[in-house]
Amino acid sequence: MSMTQETSSKTPAGALAARMMTMPLMISSLLVHAARHSGDTEIVSRRVEGDLHRYTYKDAELRSRKVAQAIERLGCGVGDRIGTLAWNGYRHFELYYGISGSQRVCHTINPRLFPEQIAWIVADAQDQVLCFELTFLPLVEKLAPHLTGVRHFVLLTDRAHMPAETKIPNLLCYEELVEAENGDYVWPEFDEHTAACICYTSGTTGNPKGAVYSHRSTVLHAWASALPDAMDCSASDSILPVVPMFHVNAWGLPYSAPLVGAKLVFPGPHLDGKSLHELFESEKVTFSAGVPTIWLGVINHMKQKGLRLSTLKRTVIGGSACPPAMMRTLENDYGLEVIHAWGMTELSPLGSLSKLKAKHRELPLEEQHRLLEKQGRSLYGIDMEIVGASGEPQPWDGHTTGDLLVRGHWVVSGYHGRDESPLQQIGGKAWFPTGDVASIDADGFMLITDRSKDVIKSGGEWISSIELENIAMAHPDVLEAAAIACHHPKWDERPLLVVVRKPGRELSREQVLDFYEGRIAKWQIPDDVVFVDEIPHTATGKMLKARLREMFREHRLPGV
Ligand code: ADP
Repeated sequence: MSMTQETSSKTPAGALAARMMTMPLMISSLLVHAARHSGDTEIVSRRVEGDLHRYTYKDAELRSRKVAQAIERLGCGVGDRIGTLAWNGYRHFELYYGISGSQRVCHTINPRLFPEQIAWIVADAQDQVLCFELTFLPLVEKLAPHLTGVRHFVLLTDRAHMPAETKIPNLLCYEELVEAENGDYVWPEFDEHTAACICYTSGTTGNPKGAVYSHRSTVLHAWASALPDAMDCSASDSILPVVPMFHVNAWGLPYSAPLVGAKLVFPGPHLDGKSLHELFESEKVTFSAGVPTIWLGVINHMKQKGLRLSTLKRTVIGGSACPPAMMRTLENDYGLEVIHAWGMTELSPLGSLSKLKAKHRELPLEEQHRLLEKQGRSLYGIDMEIVGASGEPQPWDGHTTGDLLVRGHWVVSGYHGRDESPLQQIGGKAWFPTGDVASIDADGFMLITDRSKDVIKSGGEWISSIELENIAMAHPDVLEAAAIACHHPKWDERPLLVVVRKPGRELSREQVLDFYEGRIAKWQIPDDVVFVDEIPHTATGKMLKARLREMFREHRLPGV
C-alpha cells in the first residue's frame, strides 16, 4: 500500500492545510532512485574471495529485492533483527537495503569486538538470522553454540566457496538464497519512524548500547551529509568508504552515494595502504572517508614507493582527532583536501565538519588551517551547545570550554531495550550529552579538546590531551602519541606522553619534551615521556586511553 498522501493529515484545526504531497522517507527509495536515474553507475567491490566484483545500481536494486524475498522465505517477520558480520562490499550493501527496505532491522556487528561482546549484542538485539563473511567463519563457529536465539546462519558467498565441513548446523549459502528468488517484489511504504538499523556503541566501559536508527533519521542524515559543506557528494564522484559498514553505516555513505548517483568502491577486507592506494588509482576514486590510523598506512606506503594520488581530491577524516601534521602532509605532499569531521554512534554518526565560510578565504593561510583543524560547524539538522557543570550555556568565544550537547533529527533519544533516557533538559529542550568537552567560536566552529574522561586535570586547570598529542604527532620521528593523566601528589594529575617511534628512528625523552618548548604553555608540557611498541586501539580504531591509564597507573613521574 502506498503511503503517499496529497496533504499532511496532521494540520491542526483552524490552520490552513498545505497542498503538498507527503511521502515517507524510506531507505529503499534511495536505491530505487539510483537504479532509475543512475542505473548503469558502477559498484565495485574487492571480495573476500580475492577478486574484484563489479555491477551496477540497477543490478544492486534487483538483487536487494531478491534479498528481501529470501528473508521473507526464511520466515522473518516485520521488525525482526538480522545481524551482519561483513566487510564493505556489494553483498553487505544488498543486505542494508534488502533488510531495512522490507521492514526488518539490519544489525551491523563490529567483528573487532571481543567474541563475548558479540554474543552479548546478538542476544540483546535478538537477531533471528546472522549473515557473515568467510573471514568470520571460525569466529561464528566458536560463537554459534552460544547464539541460541539465531535461527539461521547465512554465509555470504557462493556454493563453490562453502566449507565442506562446518560445526554450524544447516549453514545456508547466500548466493543460493538470492538466486532462488525472482525479484518480483515491490518495496513497501510504511511509517518513516520505523526502525531500520541498529548499531552498538563500542562499549569501552560497560556493555555496548544499541542505537536504533529509523528510516527517517537515516535518509535525512544521508541527505544532509551529501551537501557541499559536508561531504560534497555528487554523481561525478567515485566514492571509496574506508570506514566500515559494520560500524555506524560507514558514516552513511552507502546511503549518500545512491542518493546522488555516485560510483561506489568497496575495499572489502583489504585496508592496508597498498591495497587502498591501488583501488584509489584503478577505480579513479575522487573521495574517501576514514579514521586517522587508516591514513597512516596509506601515507607510509606512498612515501616508501614514491607514489601519488592522481584522482583522489578530498577525504573526510574523523572518528578521533585528525592530527594537523597529517592534514598538512596529505594537503601539501598529495594535493588532498582533508575535511575534518566529528561524530558518534549516537549521531548516525555525523555532527560537524570543518569547511570555511566565504569570509575566511581572505584570512592568512595559517589562520585558515587553524579553523580547518577544528572539528567544524554543525550541519543543518544538528544543533549544539556547550554547558558548564550545572548546565549553564557557555559563551561561543572559541576559548571557553564546556560539555558538548547536541539535538537533532539523527540523534538518539534512548537505547535499545533500556528504559532510562540519556537526554538532559536544558532551556526547555531535550539535549543529548556527548561526553565530549569542546569550545565553539563565534562562527560556530567547534573544537573538541577531550572526551570528558580523558581530560587531564592539573591543579584545577584542564589540559587538553588532544592538543598534546597533536604537537607530538608533528614531530617527524613520532608515529603515534597518546597523552594520559598520571597521578601526581601535588597537582592531582599531570600529563604523561606515550609515544610510538617511527620504525628505525632514534628519539629520546628529552628531544620530545624540547619539541614542546614554545608550542604550548610551559605548565602544560608533559611531565614525562614513555616509549612503547604499540598503542592499543578500540574496535573502531581509537586509542584505548583507559587501557593506557591502567598500564601506567604505577608510573612514577620524575621528581615525585
Ligand atoms: P564510534 O562511532 O567509533 O563508536 P563513538 O560513538 O564510540 O564512536 O565515539 C565517538 C567519540 O569519538 C566522540 O564522542 C569523540 O570523543 C570522538 N571523536 C569522533 N570524531 C572526532 C574528531 N574528529 N576529533 C576528536 N574526537 C572525535
